[in-house]
Amino acid sequence: QGDSKDYDSETESVCPFCGVGCKVSLKVKDGKVKYVEGINGPANEGRLCVKGRFGFDYIHHPHRLTKPLIRREDAPAKGLNVDPSNLSTHFREATWEEAMDLASSRLKALRDQDPHNVAGFGSAKCTNEEAYLFQKFIRQGFGHNNVDHCTRLCHASSVAALIENVGSGAVTATFNEIENADVAIIIGANPIENHPVAATYFKQFTKRGGKLIVMDPRGVGMRKFADEMLQFRPGADVSMLNAIMNVIVEEELYDSQYIHRWTENWEAEKEHLRAFTPEAMAPICGIDPDQLRRVARIFAQAKAGLIFWGMGVSQHIHGTDNSRCLISLALMTGNVGKPGAGLHPLRGQNNVQGASDAGLIPMFLPDYKTVTDDNIRAQFTSVWGSEDFSNEKGLTVTEIIDQAYAGNIKGMYIQGENPAMSDPDVGHARDALAKLELMIVQDIFLTETANYADIILPASALYEKNGTVSNTNRQVQRVRPAVAPPGEAREDWKITVELAQRIGLNWSYSDVSEVFAEMKLTMESLDNITWERLETETITYPSLSETDPGQAIVFGDGFPRADGRAKFTPASVIQPDEAPDEEYPMIATTGRQLEHWHTGSMTRRATVLDAVEPEANCSMNPRQLKLMGIEPGETIRLTTRRGSIEIMVRADRAIAEDMVFIPFAYVEAAANILTNSAIDPYGKIPEFKFSAIRVEKIEDA
Ligand code: SF4
Repeated sequence: QGDSKDYDSETESVCPFCGVGCKVSLKVKDGKVKYVEGINGPANEGRLCVKGRFGFDYIHHPHRLTKPLIRREDAPAKGLNVDPSNLSTHFREATWEEAMDLASSRLKALRDQDPHNVAGFGSAKCTNEEAYLFQKFIRQGFGHNNVDHCTRLCHASSVAALIENVGSGAVTATFNEIENADVAIIIGANPIENHPVAATYFKQFTKRGGKLIVMDPRGVGMRKFADEMLQFRPGADVSMLNAIMNVIVEEELYDSQYIHRWTENWEAEKEHLRAFTPEAMAPICGIDPDQLRRVARIFAQAKAGLIFWGMGVSQHIHGTDNSRCLISLALMTGNVGKPGAGLHPLRGQNNVQGASDAGLIPMFLPDYKTVTDDNIRAQFTSVWGSEDFSNEKGLTVTEIIDQAYAGNIKGMYIQGENPAMSDPDVGHARDALAKLELMIVQDIFLTETANYADIILPASALYEKNGTVSNTNRQVQRVRPAVAPPGEAREDWKITVELAQRIGLNWSYSDVSEVFAEMKLTMESLDNITWERLETETITYPSLSETDPGQAIVFGDGFPRADGRAKFTPASVIQPDEAPDEEYPMIATTGRQLEHWHTGSMTRRATVLDAVEPEANCSMNPRQLKLMGIEPGETIRLTTRRGSIEIMVRADRAIAEDMVFIPFAYVEAAANILTNSAIDPYGKIPEFKFSAIRVEKIEDA
């Protein structure tokens, strides 16, 4: 840290890590960001966590890509085999002219054979404008919808359930609304590590007497603040939630007036829930029937209740059903559309909400408008001045990888996404990437994915960009460049625009604000939100007038569905895709840690964060470790049906005895070598949260 005057300039922007969207002031000296302060944004009120405050110097790391690179003809076979400190074994430097010429000519050649040869992964780390341009690039440039991003790996199932039952994929209330709540449920989320500043508001809520109910197979940090902790069996969410709702039905604790006025399909839901008695569900979910009854009464009898959830809910083959249950619980208790009440999937990446809103999804155009509707596509092609494109929903992240593996997709344009680390069964994903004839990677580092690239385009970190991002609260905020990109690196939107022009698209933008202006032509969610307002304001969409800062709570006067009513969708118990057995007797779950962000490409290059948490690790219950004769700190072997890793183990009493928790930030012991690629049929999200696993002591360790 420097002292408060020790800088040449300061720039306001937004933290690049999680979906909380903390506003920051970046203090720059001698062309480098020297330190970061939290400032007064609506989501953080000056607060920052360790990542936001100390995790910024990755942008000046010597591994930054500063020139376009082209794979050498004599490079070794594609694989995870490039030393980021010595790229010249695999790549040669090129001019932008040469790299863009090669990229565009090879994209065009693949398109001429068959437009479906090419697919794209955009990024939730880029701005709204960059996400919008990326999806437009694939749709307009190749005529199909095979474009997706990491929402598929985090909250796709939550969004599917919300759109199905509430009519909108975003939160119905900001997390700050907890100040008006009497009760809050946090399920399948670990905000102390993953949304740390939001967690400070949750702790304040408990301090003033709010009732907190935490539900999670892991004893996550918020349990210390909880009135009720339900440490349920992994994968048993639906049985537990249905049992809670069964009590609400049987004891008639539901809000009849609300149900009658604002919902449909209640009778079917009510009937469905009759079988899920606490006694019948207790052996499945592992929670005592008395506690299930107590929790049902606390939530149903409160004046206002919020439900927060994370990837513990969404990353299952029944992730959509899990979210359907949470939506039903909120609806039957009348907890949507009023102060202190609502549904809030805590979004992960800093701009995963915005990237999804901007249409970086294979089934939806911007504002979640379906690609299957001819009139909707006509609306877009009229704005874009282009021909119609496919009315078929496109392929998702894992489907694109499967098609690449099968040889049906031959070329990919990947902007800031790291599937060689983030995808389930990542050995399969890496093999698929190695098979591509053309892989264009646009990123700030030589990520694991870029190891497989043919052409690498050096891009910008968030603190080098101009544009907007949207956080988990639906709050649209400006990001601004504090420093210039290093060397010849460029802002992502400029790269996409030039590539689009070179493959023959009629694009002409001289400033990123022009992209935002175009987005407003098709995105009603941005009504009343102008570039000029965003110079000085954070605006929560929807904003009802040019002076309205936006609506923290939505759907108090009906839902954006055909008849204005939300819907109950009953959910049945579906077992995880693979059950523990003799060979793989334990359960693995993956997630993040406080100090490291996703695949680690940024935070493992941030000096302070890497110093605090430098080594790949997993956690197990100390009793289980003792039983197996393993000391904390030992290296153990973890094996699933997909593969095996060796990793240091820590003791953590909060983990159930038959579970292993593995963070997925570490390439040297990549958790996703182990994970299962089975997907939820609706959200198409993989089951990262449940793999049958074998744990072994390494005898000569
Ligand atoms: Fe950044 Fe999230 Fe931490 Fe805020 S809570 S500083 S947005 S990582």
